[in-house]
Amino acid sequence: MTIPFKIAILGGDGIGPEVVAEGVKVLRAVEALLPVIRFDLVEHAVGAGEFLRGGDPLPGATLEKMKEADAILLGAMGLPSVRWPNGVEMTPQIDIREKLDLYNGVRPIHLYHELHTPLKGYGAAGQRTIDFVIIRENCEGLFSERLTPRPAGRDFETDTMKITRRGAERICREAFKLALKRRQHCTLVDKANVLPSMAFLRKIFDEVARDFPTVTTDRVYVDAMALFLVQRPEAFDVMVTENMFGDILSDLGAGIIGGMGMAPSADLGETHGVFQPSHGTAPTIAGKGIANPIATILSVAMMLEWLDHPETIRGARLIESAVGKVLAEPTHRTADLGGKLPTTKMGDLVCQALG
Ligand code: ATP
Repeated sequence: MTIPFKIAILGGDGIGPEVVAEGVKVLRAVEALLPVIRFDLVEHAVGAGEFLRGGDPLPGATLEKMKEADAILLGAMGLPSVRWPNGVEMTPQIDIREKLDLYNGVRPIHLYHELHTPLKGYGAAGQRTIDFVIIRENCEGLFSERLTPRPAGRDFETDTMKITRRGAERICREAFKLALKRRQHCTLVDKANVLPSMAFLRKIFDEVARDFPTVTTDRVYVDAMALFLVQRPEAFDVMVTENMFGDILSDLGAGIIGGMGMAPSADLGETHGVFQPSHGTAPTIAGKGIANPIATILSVAMMLEWLDHPETIRGARLIESAVGKVLAEPTHRTADLGGKLPTTKMGDLVCQALG
């Protein structure tokens, strides 16, 4: 008797399908080591390519099928050449977050090797480490009214930074819960000195903090955080912030551990979870077989942890440790990290290290 987990697979556009293929390869390899578990994979076409084919980047019927899955593994979506009439790119990955209420964006930033970071004095034995998690609110903040229809022909446009009590409370609570499992420190990133919406977020963070007396806290303005993440990233454990600040800081975080190809993510709600690399479709390297699949492979590990069965959790640990073993060897680097390994070879190495 095996326990089946249904996984929806959405390769998407650009390098999405290439990196997801490696994630699936690793998932199958770890499945072979977990005799009581079975993964039933169902592929779906979503993204700019699907828009060009069928006129809708996220067909309603596909979304309904995705909801039946226990978890969703996603590559990347959108292409600069495929845009809506108002000029913005198609972003079905953001639509999925909003439609499934995946408010909790979890973005771990972990340095595996000193050669991956542009910062001096990090990563080698005895040096400082980089290991923190950005919790990004995914369903409101500065993205909240991006789909609101606007009158045509105005000579101004606005975007609204919307923070609700419910949205702020639940994301702060998730950040504190995660801090309890880690180094018990939680940082709020805001702009409370200037924006009333951010002062409101800070008030709610302070209220939630009272329920977690063992977790130490600090509050940092987002501009200062951009500085501190370069100067002393080791000072942070869990940080929580609104949607757009989280988007920007995720890329900055990825930049100090080797780039977008090293940064996994999970978008979590009460019932659904989407797991995807933090990067986009990287159109300039798509089809060349050189994309780094590590972010996707680590997202698979996050998915297995979230599925929350003792054996899937064991699988998550196996993948993380295999990635650690592979990346400890300096020649094991894709082009983004200054190496020569092709995408598929990196996936193969992780599979071999699993055993
Ligand atoms: P989006 O807006 O969809 O998040 P983006 O415009 O931020 O996308 P990305 O597609 O994430 O851009 O790419 C940013 C940079 O990182 C590009 O130089 C890209 O080539 C590089 N990059 C992204 N992902 C990878 C990867 N997996 N391997 C190697 N390089 C990558």
